Amino acid sequence: MSKMNIKKFGDSILRVKCQEIKNIDDQVKKTAMEMLETMYQGRGVGLAAPQVGLNWQLVVIDAGKGPLVLINPKIIQKSNILVKGEEGCLSLPNVSLKIKRPSWVEIENRNIKTDNIQKFKAEGLLARVIQHEMDHLEGKLIIDKVPFWEKWCALGKLKIKRD
Ligand code: ZN
Repeated sequence: MSKMNIKKFGDSILRVKCQEIKNIDDQVKKTAMEMLETMYQGRGVGLAAPQVGLNWQLVVIDAGKGPLVLINPKIIQKSNILVKGEEGCLSLPNVSLKIKRPSWVEIENRNIKTDNIQKFKAEGLLARVIQHEMDHLEGKLIIDKVPFWEKWCALGKLKIKRD
């Protein structure tokens, strides 16, 4: 397996609304594995399908408790309490922004191994990473969630590396 190319800010795929995955076939499973590998190589804690050029509702995460794959994730409940935390993004090199998000979320998604619908509650860093990655599936990036002057500064720091 080879490292996938991570799409950077400016690529139009990062702005699409992703499609539901109908069948968890071998291609989906292989893609999830390659995305996990790419995420670990990039030292990220999460990666969403559009970041590797695919308009699928698929994200991979490892917030310190092992790999997690979410297919067609939906937030079914969330905390009213918003907490601020520092976030980076593999598609926005050198950018780090403080983002407010609900402190916990309850998620429904399709399990990649069993194909069953599963629900679980996440809090702390995991809740933050899940919400960040799910924003990608809607074509949203962290720079969309800060005041414009912070966005200016962030865009100034953004150095697109060509590899
Ligand atoms: Zn991101």
